[in-house]
Amino acid sequence: MAALMREKVVRVHHWTDTLFSFTTSRDQGFRFRNGHFTMIGLRGDNGRPLMRAYSMASANYEETLESLSIKVPDGPLTSRLQHLKVGDEILVRPKTSGTMVAEELLPGNRLFLLSTGTGLAPFISIIKDPKIYEAYGKVILVHGTRLIAELAYQHYITGTLPKDKFIGDVVSQKLTYYPTVTREPHINTGHATDLIKSGALTAPLGIARPSSNTDRFMLCDRTSMLKGMSEILNELGFAAASEQQMGHYVIERAFTEQ
Ligand code: FAD
Repeated sequence: MAALMREKVVRVHHWTDTLFSFTTSRDQGFRFRNGHFTMIGLRGDNGRPLMRAYSMASANYEETLESLSIKVPDGPLTSRLQHLKVGDEILVRPKTSGTMVAEELLPGNRLFLLSTGTGLAPFISIIKDPKIYEAYGKVILVHGTRLIAELAYQHYITGTLPKDKFIGDVVSQKLTYYPTVTREPHINTGHATDLIKSGALTAPLGIARPSSNTDRFMLCDRTSMLKGMSEILNELGFAAASEQQMGHYVIERAFTEQ
């Protein structure tokens, strides 16, 4: 196995007491596809690396690496990782993988990116990718959280990215952001599965329900929600991508449920 890379923390941002982002230096040789994950970690008390899967929230053309992380109170890694400070060192595995990549999908007109919680991370990488806007006429990013404060990157998505000097214009034209909250009053409520079933997500696009002829999906969520969403898409005639062939949708577990 290739040696782990050692990167320096350059920025830490705490969204809530359960959610934070951290940015590190990036080895110039580190390559990945937008939407990929790798293993990130710290050296454990026994001196051995303690590594967990993390999606890159940075795009593959950026000079730094960014991650969006949960803080699990007794989590072996995140109980320590949440105390990261600028200048600390983290370990990064050079090999990346994942199914949240555009190359797994058949050509289409609209791309739906459905996530909850930290499942947003790979989509932050993807919405910075100019090729996504060449491939699709419309990109719809859905982020579901329990609380409004957990809608991480909201200002970046609606304020900063549309003003980006390279892709801002196309982002303004093609990216629709749909935040939805389940445990507080908000302009949008409910999980993506309910929003698709009720038509709330597709009605503003002028369609009653998604069609496998035109629509493509990337789903990054917990297992139970992935199952529900896959069932809805399968009933509508969508086919999941597999190792053998491209499909109408791809799925990735945002974390392993206990
Ligand atoms: P663990 O022992 O790993 O987890 C303890 C428990 O905490 C889990 O069983 C689960 O119930 C809960 N949990 C773990 N991760 C999450 C989460 N993200 N959201 C809600 N509950 C969780 N985590 C991130 O924070 N950001 C990412 O970008 C990310 N990408 C991942 C990509 C993949 C493909 C997979 C499989 C997992 C990903 N995870 C991500 C989860 C991550 O690998 C760790 O589980 C997480 O960092 C907690 O590590 P831990 O050692 O503290 O606790």
